[in-house]
Amino acid sequence: MAYDDNNIFARILRGEIPCKKVLENDYVLAFHDIAPKAPTHILVIPKGKYIAIDDFGAKASAQEIKEFYAAISKIAEDNNLKQTGFRVISNAGIHGGQEVPHFHVHILGGKYLGPMISV
Ligand code: AMP
Repeated sequence: MAYDDNNIFARILRGEIPCKKVLENDYVLAFHDIAPKAPTHILVIPKGKYIAIDDFGAKASAQEIKEFYAAISKIAEDNNLKQTGFRVISNAGIHGGQEVPHFHVHILGGKYLGPMISV
């Protein structure tokens, strides 16, 4: 599958659609999810054109991957999630329920989220 340049996160990266920015650098943009599922719900996306986590893992440079993880750590620290804990989810493809085909992780926290459940 080819990367869709008109997906909503590509449009956010181009500044065509606004977002509530949390962090931005040369590699990563993070912003609040428009429909939060927890008191804190932040999306982290790479600036590169990757469709899902498997695409990112297979094709991104070591620097891009390092910067992505470093951003998650910084966001957890800056948003007071480090001490109480948080959850990171990445939906991939059809069975994963991925809605936006630009790789992203969800950082969820701000309350006890409970154990992972079967679906
Ligand atoms: P996923 O199902 O993993 O692809 O998640 C896509 C997420 O993007 C959902 O949680 C949506 O609420 C969120 N979302 C969609 N459009 C926007 C937007 N314009 N700004 C912020 N978050 C968005």
